[in-house]
Amino acid sequence: MIEFVFLGTSASAPSVDRGLSAAMVMYGDQRFLIDCGEGTQRQILRSGLGFKRLDHVLLTHGHLDHILGLGGLVSTFSRWEAVDHLTIYGGGWALERVRDLMNVALRGGEVQLRIDLCQLDAGVFWNRRGLAITAFPVVHRGPGCFGFLFGEEPHRPFLADEAERLGVPAGPERRQLVMGQPITLADGRVIHPDQVLGPVQPGLRLAWVGDAARIEGLHEHVEGADALVIEATYLDVEADMAQRFGHLTASQSATLAYEAGVEQLYLTHISRRYAARQILEEAEPIFPHTIVARDFDRFRISRSAAEPTPAGAAEEAVIHEQ
Ligand SMILES: [Zn+2]
Ligand SMILES: [Zn+2]
Repeated sequence: MIEFVFLGTSASAPSVDRGLSAAMVMYGDQRFLIDCGEGTQRQILRSGLGFKRLDHVLLTHGHLDHILGLGGLVSTFSRWEAVDHLTIYGGGWALERVRDLMNVALRGGEVQLRIDLCQLDAGVFWNRRGLAITAFPVVHRGPGCFGFLFGEEPHRPFLADEAERLGVPAGPERRQLVMGQPITLADGRVIHPDQVLGPVQPGLRLAWVGDAARIEGLHEHVEGADALVIEATYLDVEADMAQRFGHLTASQSATLAYEAGVEQLYLTHISRRYAARQILEEAEPIFPHTIVARDFDRFRISRSAAEPTPAGAAEEAVIHEQ
């Protein structure tokens, strides 16, 4: 199961109801903060997710609405021993800006926090404990913008009923079988993994795209994903503005979801100019399985379908113009 929580879903500037870009992706005990707009640390506190094991940050690009919160976050971490090491992944340009920001945030202080900046290239940059993360190039404004594909390793499900029938006791024997090793039961019978493991199931895939100027070139990276998260800053009526500022419209993002055959689409980076309803009304006719994310919405994908969980705000989000 891959879980993700939206911590900020507003474009460019915060609104009353939406913070700036940030989200947490979780797989087992692994946690990744994607982008860190201004105010993210308070959003993390409000979400109840906490800072524990929050030591990996992935940046889609270097615009301030996606990185400014890192200043506050490291300032807190540097005086707080719960997190003593932070690795920040991003393109070269994003990391250059982060370096400047860190210089300001940590200047002169006695810093306990170790920060590693890890420059991304397209390709797999994380492969641990059943999860691989691939960075892929995204065209927005400025160089070195990336999207991320979280991919679970394919695996064979354990057939508990079959194990029961064969008399395999619960405990380490079952773990051994899952790891592909045969076991010998007390009565001398040898049980092979094939007897208790089902056919190979493809792993879950979550595709995450930050700000993007066009959908061309993204299909191959998000193809068939269980969930696609992507920006929808504009509506088609302002397609010229979207193009000028290197953003997508709701219909473009929905078109990508449709053409790439993803299971579920989550739209974020919503402009204060529109209500969430308007974004949804434009996207849904093109791709019905669309959700316009709100701050603190929490979702999980398991097996083949994305299931929203009602952990986020219960009411329809309303965007207030400022
Ligand atoms: Zn942005
Ligand atoms: Zn941007």
